[in-house]
Amino acid sequence: MEKKFRKIGILSSGGDAPGMSAAIKSVTCSAISRGVEVVGILGGYSGLINNRLRPLTKNDVSGIISLGGTYLYSDRCDEFKTEEGMAKAIETCKKNNIDGIIAIGGDGTFRGATDLSVRGIPCIGLPGTIDNDITATDTTIGFDTAMNTVLDLCDRLRDTSESHARCTVVEVMGRNAGYIAIETGIALNAIGVALQEVPFDKEALFKRMIEMREQGRRSFIVIVAEGLGTAFAEALTKEIEEKTGIESRFNRPAHIVRGGIPTLRDRVLASVMGDKAVDLLLQGQSDVVICSRNNQIVATDIKYALIVDRMYKNKLKPGDLDAFTPEQIEEMKALCEERKAYFVDMCDIANTIGC
Ligand code: ADP
Repeated sequence: MEKKFRKIGILSSGGDAPGMSAAIKSVTCSAISRGVEVVGILGGYSGLINNRLRPLTKNDVSGIISLGGTYLYSDRCDEFKTEEGMAKAIETCKKNNIDGIIAIGGDGTFRGATDLSVRGIPCIGLPGTIDNDITATDTTIGFDTAMNTVLDLCDRLRDTSESHARCTVVEVMGRNAGYIAIETGIALNAIGVALQEVPFDKEALFKRMIEMREQGRRSFIVIVAEGLGTAFAEALTKEIEEKTGIESRFNRPAHIVRGGIPTLRDRVLASVMGDKAVDLLLQGQSDVVICSRNNQIVATDIKYALIVDRMYKNKLKPGDLDAFTPEQIEEMKALCEERKAYFVDMCDIANTIGC
């Protein structure tokens, strides 16, 4: 172990996700087991700017693995993006002898981690978001719990839909990504799943619903991804009723899906990733995000992770790829294709087996 790490900081930032507390617990215990002190930074980067710190012991975190939300709170802090804010954050690290930071969050949080890393505070990111919208990792902390919450809510909606012979159109969170929508759609036997990654055939949905109703089917669930915009799901609900004659209701669980006890999958992912982050930080790595790729936990350069995200969203700017080798660029392209193909395949399956 490198001697220079005597104390590390841990923070959660941006949108919260179930499993963030499990990651905080893992980081704390992993570091202490390796002889390193841990300090919790309260409220993300604003806590770093305002010196809101709480020393953490194993005893402090022993009960938080099942805690929803985040034990260290979260915040969105614009001041951190300014030079003055950054200077205050560095000052807090210096004053409190914080030798490195592990930051849990999404791409904004990783940009902050990079800014700190280049100014001499080594940082490692952990992917925490229910949306699963970080291209470099197969899964993010919080995704599994959010999907299971949607499942539970929709099973309840199906009960009442069945009693009243209705269709319920449910808009699920996910920001601009359809991961929650497609996986829950399949798991719920939704008659239709609409998301932004793959064209949605409304007429085919209406036809399927009419046929199923003629065969005696009483209730239907249709899942719509948040990314299609606020008006989409409500308009679709009205159209279903008009075109099929089936009474339809709209439902938006929204932030309910962000809360709750993390599932086993999220607790394990958070635990394994947290331990890996500590291990790599103490080995001297910095400016990387911990990812899950093909069932392996790996470290990915934050710049690589941010650029592959942009490539996936077709938002590359001139010069974005200059820092990468041709092999890396090919690898990025292959990853983007893999992600896009996943949605096409899953939508195909959903449309074939949804009934
Ligand atoms: P997420 O991490 O979930 O993507 P945000 O985009 O809101 O959430 O980012 C979380 C926080 O990370 C912001 O409030 C800000 O403090 C910090 N941050 C975001 N973008 C940058 C940036 N370009 N430079 C430095 N810090 C950033």
